[in-house]
Amino acid sequence: MKAWFAIPLWLRVIGALILGVLIGYPWGKYGPVFGVGVEPTDIKIIGDVFVAFIKMLVVPLIFFSLVAGVAAIGDLKKLGSIGWRALLLFVVSGQIAVWLGLTLGTLIQPGAGVDTSAIQMGATPDPDPMDWRETLLNAIPSSPVQVMADVNVLPLIVFSLLIGVGILMAKQDGEPVLKIFESGSVVMQKITMVVMELTPFGVFALMAWVAGTLGIDALAALGKLVFLNYLGCLLIILVMYSAMIKLIARLPIVDFFRGIIDAIAVSYSTASSNATLPVTLRCAERNLGISKPVASFVISLGATVNMNGTAMYLGLATLFGAQIFGVDLSWGDYFLIALLGTVGAIGAAGIPGAGLIMMALVFGAVGVPLETIALVAGIDRIMDMMRTTTNVSGDAAVATTVASLTGEIDKAEMISADDV
Ligand code: ASP
Repeated sequence: MKAWFAIPLWLRVIGALILGVLIGYPWGKYGPVFGVGVEPTDIKIIGDVFVAFIKMLVVPLIFFSLVAGVAAIGDLKKLGSIGWRALLLFVVSGQIAVWLGLTLGTLIQPGAGVDTSAIQMGATPDPDPMDWRETLLNAIPSSPVQVMADVNVLPLIVFSLLIGVGILMAKQDGEPVLKIFESGSVVMQKITMVVMELTPFGVFALMAWVAGTLGIDALAALGKLVFLNYLGCLLIILVMYSAMIKLIARLPIVDFFRGIIDAIAVSYSTASSNATLPVTLRCAERNLGISKPVASFVISLGATVNMNGTAMYLGLATLFGAQIFGVDLSWGDYFLIALLGTVGAIGAAGIPGAGLIMMALVFGAVGVPLETIALVAGIDRIMDMMRTTTNVSGDAAVATTVASLTGEIDKAEMISADDV
């Protein structure tokens, strides 16, 4: 038992993934020939249990982490010049990221040509073609409890943001409620860590099932998805962030990346923006020369709200699911994915697997079967590591840019910081 926990989780997950494929493929192909009575589909239940636990987390995670995130701003005035600039950069970069995911998914079609007849389908969400009045009304949480029961994330986010604003307006009177949300958000993150301990078992079962029932085509499709995830994230980091630093902040790109190298390493290995937060803050203040208030405000908020890797991935994964299961998407659906991809990235907590949880939100809205989550859950960790690095570098890029625009950066320190 001790030896098991001594191995880092990511290593256990990758081991489970490889083992799942190595056992699942021959099991599905030759099992019947040798009269093996149990099929790979029979162990899928283990993966389903894992995915069910993940789904359990969606509503409470968004609710607690978003309210606590908004309230963390401190007071409404602080949203002033720094807040608006940061939020604008968060939203614009999130939109660019999600459209990049949609473009890559459309051009390269990672999910095309997979035979999914072996998958037993559950209920496919109904993509009701809504007009704008209905969409608008649906975003308003007329019954917050109903919204939670239906896992209707858009109105849930509106509700959470408003509670956060209410807490700020109530000042001292709001403090007890704020404490509940802050502590609730920590508790939810702990529960998530427990659920993540199931990952190796879930991943093993899901990979054995994918390899055993769907065969090589599906594995190749998953390989393409991983490749596109890395490509998209690298483009965001190398092109979008470099442009932000060079053109808006007007600072040297090399010094920026050299300054955040620790945060890059920690984010890639932990797959958690939150866990990396102390390191990102240290890099921002010590290596990049960003003033303390700007660094702590922008980077703390960004760790939950600014997730360009996740936004890109949500766009890409939705197209992947649509291609795998032959769902036709209209232009309207693309815009809905772009909107919900950004919303989902904002709502996702900065913890491992959060992007996976948010997939249910986007899939549900455009009628992509939720079975896609089970298909990709086995390889999520490898993609999550890269998404998180993208998310964390983005927080540093936005903080640097905002600090530069508002005169809150010590440029000499940034350029000379080749120590640490
Ligand atoms: N793990 C990511 C993060 O912490 C979120 C995600 O799953 O996409 O930033």
